[in-house]
Amino acid sequence: MKPRILYLYSDTGGGHRSAATAVMQAVEHLRKNTFSQEMVDVFASCSGFLNIFAKLYSPVIKYSPQMWGQLYYWLDDEKKLERLEKVAGPFILKELVGLIKKKSPNIIVSVHPMVNHLTVKAIKQSGKKLPFIIVITDPVTLHRAWITPGADQAIVATPEAKQLAVKYGMPENKIKVIGMPIDPKFSLKDKEKQAARKKDNLKPKAFTILMMGGGEGAGKMLEIIEEFDRAELNIQLIVIAGRNKSLETQLKHSASKFRFPVRVYGFTDQVHEIMAESDLIITKAGPGTIAEAMAMNLPIIITSWLPGQEEGNVEYVVRENVGRVSKDPKRVVEIVKEMIGTPEFEELKKNIRRASRPQAAMEIAREIFRYL
Ligand code: UDP
Repeated sequence: MKPRILYLYSDTGGGHRSAATAVMQAVEHLRKNTFSQEMVDVFASCSGFLNIFAKLYSPVIKYSPQMWGQLYYWLDDEKKLERLEKVAGPFILKELVGLIKKKSPNIIVSVHPMVNHLTVKAIKQSGKKLPFIIVITDPVTLHRAWITPGADQAIVATPEAKQLAVKYGMPENKIKVIGMPIDPKFSLKDKEKQAARKKDNLKPKAFTILMMGGGEGAGKMLEIIEEFDRAELNIQLIVIAGRNKSLETQLKHSASKFRFPVRVYGFTDQVHEIMAESDLIITKAGPGTIAEAMAMNLPIIITSWLPGQEEGNVEYVVRENVGRVSKDPKRVVEIVKEMIGTPEFEELKKNIRRASRPQAAMEIAREIFRYL
């Protein structure tokens, strides 16, 4: 029987699912047909209680990101996390022990912050000796909930994340700095833009801007598009609305009224193909999207972020000089105008090539192999 790898994730946004899928794809790419791999949405399957939080993610980040920030900061506290674990722990623990017994994995890999302490306890209670790795998907500033000294290893994306993890109590010898896992399809993708556009019936030579807002399609996309329309720029736009159905419908209805072509997608598994056609991305500061855009060498304009959780990502984009930041739709359009065809734009791309770690998922896969 093939050794089994069990991934714990949650379908909040798109980032955790993408990270788990990325590592799974890398494992398969490096060792074809060697392992049996499975992802389990821990909130949906183990905890009615935490599933309420998970279900709130989509409406809250769309309509009141500040509220998510308040919750984030309120819970970023050792004592409160302990209390939360006391309240919710017993139910989830029982489910987790059951999950481990049922799936009988040879290793567990978590890409989510909320149930890692309990997973360590559940492994003990199940009576099995199982390695447990945590892949921290907040690349710069990370929440205390990730920190689990009892895990065998924590993989982080940057040296800053490592410093914070140590400060919060993760033993230094258990931390590896590797990078954000992104699906190998991003790093393996051919980046010849004009041919890709032609094949997809887009204008081959137009400056092509991709707009997205994570899995939930968050951010002021419509306002920004209207601002582009006033600016009379020679561009074409591709919008990925993700799971934001109302944005998708609204944009599909109004796409033809704009002066430039606007192509609209709902939730798509073709993000890598779409990035390959694009010159620039305008996005929420989601860690998955930023890492993927960098692997595809796209300069980034950040227009929204989750308070607390994604602030470090905004600082990262500025510090590494791989993009620009503005919440003001007018300013966003000015930034684009100032950038197109300039040496500054080429400079951003050079910085992206330097900072990007497109092979991180492969390296994480190799770490997993060390335990099997
Ligand atoms: N994504 C996708 N299809 C879509 C929209 C998003 O596959 O239509 C993916 C995107 O490629 C990225 C993830 O969802 O891997 C979004 O993760 P991120 O960390 O940027 O933000 P989140 O959605 O977790 O807030």
